[in-house]
Amino acid sequence: MSKARVMVVDDESILRMDLKEMLAEAGYEVVAEANNGELAIEMAALHHPELIIMDVKMPRMNGIKASRIIEKTFKIPVVLLTAYSQNETIEEAKKAGISGYLVKPITEKQLIPAVEIALAQNQKVKRLLKDMKNLEQKIEDRKLIEKAKGIVMESLGINEDDAYQKLRTYCMNHRVIMKELAHYIIKHKSIDFSVKISS
Ligand SMILES: [Mg+2]
Repeated sequence: MSKARVMVVDDESILRMDLKEMLAEAGYEVVAEANNGELAIEMAALHHPELIIMDVKMPRMNGIKASRIIEKTFKIPVVLLTAYSQNETIEEAKKAGISGYLVKPITEKQLIPAVEIALAQNQKVKRLLKDMKNLEQKIEDRKLIEKAKGIVMESLGINEDDAYQKLRTYCMNHRVIMKELAHYIIKHKSIDFSVKISS
């Protein structure tokens, strides 16, 4: 598996160089860098890194504000770097949806696990969101099918099982998916089972 594409943001060029070196050594690809929060947002839009490592204290726009915007707009996980471990900064970072938090000086021993955890968490969140969307879609489909079934039951004066069987048979015979058929039935308030539908 290829390693993630990372962006490095710090106003100190020496620190950026250090970080780039540590990341490269661990197999990550550093695709962009920036020296302030504003530029970080631009670069995130341009390069779509999978993870951003970002200093807190920077000119023009600080790392927390930039992280908040990046999290909202691009959903890219951010690991923050800070020179101080004051409680307010941690509180602010939590609110900005930060994936990790490291206190300078940064060592490879700290950096790489933090990067890996942030990436893994992000993957998990993405998977959960996808599962949730699928589930919502399934519930919606089920509702549609139930409604269509009700229409068939009423218009043909048949019971639920028979109505469902009719829908299933129709779908198999005409190679139509159930959801499509349900849409058609709801739209037209009825169906002629001997004719192939066209939406
Ligand atoms: Mg700084």
